[in-house]
Amino acid sequence: MKVYVGVDCGATNLRVGIFNLEGEIIAASQTASPLKDHPNQLAELTLDQLNMLIPEKRFYPKAIGLGTPGPLDLKHGWLLPSSNIGNLQPIDLRDQFQSEFKAPIFLDRDTNLALLGEVWQGVGRGMKDVVMLTLGSGIGGAIMIEGRIDHGKSGKAGEIGHAFLEIQNSKFKIQNLPTCGLGHHGCLEALINASKSWLEMAKFLGYGLANIVDIFNPQMIILGGGKLKHQVPGHKRRDFLTEAVDTMKKVGMKGAVDEVEVVYAKLDEMSGVYGGAKLADDSNQN
Ligand SMILES: [Zn+2]
Repeated sequence: MKVYVGVDCGATNLRVGIFNLEGEIIAASQTASPLKDHPNQLAELTLDQLNMLIPEKRFYPKAIGLGTPGPLDLKHGWLLPSSNIGNLQPIDLRDQFQSEFKAPIFLDRDTNLALLGEVWQGVGRGMKDVVMLTLGSGIGGAIMIEGRIDHGKSGKAGEIGHAFLEIQNSKFKIQNLPTCGLGHHGCLEALINASKSWLEMAKFLGYGLANIVDIFNPQMIILGGGKLKHQVPGHKRRDFLTEAVDTMKKVGMKGAVDEVEVVYAKLDEMSGVYGGAKLADDSNQN
């Protein structure tokens, strides 16, 4: 049978999903990511996963959609030196996949694919103006405008987690603001990672949400990522969201803050795999 394959590979996990041409997920797997230690084995490991998922090999990938952390060079299909992965040289992802698979390979940043997945089959079904934030070890961002992912000039748009925040009466003096993985003093990611409680994290996030609303006036902001699961206790998930939204409403543009829906992702850690399959499907038909 013909299938689409969605692949989501971060610094920690490699997730692979097989979808039929109707867009239903048939099988999925998760294993350790090779990107840090053996970056040239990603395509090979992906093929191993597919063979494990469908041992009889009676499937033919029509196209593959792959998401990884940025920054990417979409033109050449490279993962450029990334603070998240630690590679000093570009990793030639497209070339790797083309030598393992006959099917065409399409690439995008992981958060862009997570957003695409959520709009396709998750919480944002049918939405057209949506922003997504993924809170993990870093904070990823993705922007959809009128139904299309905004890539900017070269695929690096949407890094909302690195927008700088200066907040009145925060506990940080301007000269000792915390830094993120890229060394920014006082960006959203740095402040959220320096938070000592879920309540504090929600407040900082609220300022980030206000910035997003003021710039994009989206219908919906989707929050995903493992940090929310690990650092916000299950019974506080609703309070966390309420606190973040209340802060956003206090400091964001009137009107726009009332129009936006702020919600948790629905597909959880599978958003990016769904987005990969959607990218494969869309790109293959163009
Ligand atoms: Zn930063």
